[in-house]
Amino acid sequence: MKVLAIAYEVKDAGELAKAVKEFNGEADILAVSRAAEQVNEVARYSKRVYRLASKSPYAIYKALENLVERGGYQLLIAEGYRNLRDALSRLAGSLDLPMITDAYTIRILDGEKVLVERGFLSERAKMKVEVPLPAIVLFIPRFTEPLEPGEEGEVIELAPTEGPEKVLDVKPKAMGDVNLEEADIIVGVGRGFKAKEDLHLAFELAELLGGQVGCTRPIAADLKWLSEDRWIGISGKRVAPKLYIAIGISGSPQHMSGVQNAKIIVAINKDKSAPIFKQADYGVVADLYQFVPILIQKLKEKKAKG
Ligand SMILES: Cc1cc2nc3c(=O)[nH]c(=O)nc-3n(C[C@H](O)[C@H](O)[C@H](O)COP(=O)(O)OP(=O)(O)OC[C@H]3O[C@@H](n4cnc5c(N)ncnc54)[C@H](O)[C@@H]3O)c2cc1C
Repeated sequence: MKVLAIAYEVKDAGELAKAVKEFNGEADILAVSRAAEQVNEVARYSKRVYRLASKSPYAIYKALENLVERGGYQLLIAEGYRNLRDALSRLAGSLDLPMITDAYTIRILDGEKVLVERGFLSERAKMKVEVPLPAIVLFIPRFTEPLEPGEEGEVIELAPTEGPEKVLDVKPKAMGDVNLEEADIIVGVGRGFKAKEDLHLAFELAELLGGQVGCTRPIAADLKWLSEDRWIGISGKRVAPKLYIAIGISGSPQHMSGVQNAKIIVAINKDKSAPIFKQADYGVVADLYQFVPILIQKLKEKKAKG
């Protein structure tokens, strides 16, 4: 069965190659990248790599349509980046292919069907979905080390097709002065906090520990309580602190993919069945409004003693 993996970053090429190895062995890769040296890296995960030097969803869609029609690919897999979701949705529509998003695992049944496990209800539940091949599957980032790279494969350049969209303007967003990527300690805040004013607890804790405050997507994107440079996860920042203290965070894969390189994860959550406890090194089942003030008090006392 012919598989095409669409890589948006070198790291996801490694993750996708590993996923493919588990069910099939090999995939050709479409590397969506403007940087040629990045594509050479991607080429170490496959014998054949197509390079598309445009990140426009239309150009990706057109390149894929052409590859599927010429190459006879039966399964297309990718991680769920926004431009890839856009491009693959168009492809699913134009070629009438089934498309499954937010997958954890893939199994091929009798070379004819694909069985996917995916999460829903903020990852509190899992469902199994079966579709006939050919099909498109979008993964959430995996929590595994990428496949070890091998010999560099052949790289084939694809000419991008211009679409009807025109980017008229690009303006940088207003950002604060935080640099989460450099932080050794991060206190992460989630929707467990009931009001913006309550975030002072996280800032106080972070200051006592010499750390920074990060957050989940809803805190930055929906509630706008914190600036977007504090947003951690698949569509935010990927961080690698020595200590990550997650307060009132459920532990969605989209968030946890951003902290998978943290050395130690401590979770504070009042729901003992919260998914974050499966990934945390230390878990505290408590109401943050009771626990965090006590923690702050204890740290202050310790500091005062010297
Ligand atoms: C395409 C896509 C991309 C996404 N990208 C990201 C991303 O980059 N980053 C990201 O974070 N999310 C992302 N998300 C959203 C993600 O799926 C989750 O919805 C989000 O991470 C949940 O945020 P949360 O943990 O703050 O909130 P919730 O899931 O609502 O969890 C709140 C937690 O707080 C606990 N709690 C409530 N009250 C208290 C209390 N008093 N004391 C202690 N605990 C309490 C609850 O038990 C619960 O576990 C993305 C989603 C999609 C579809």
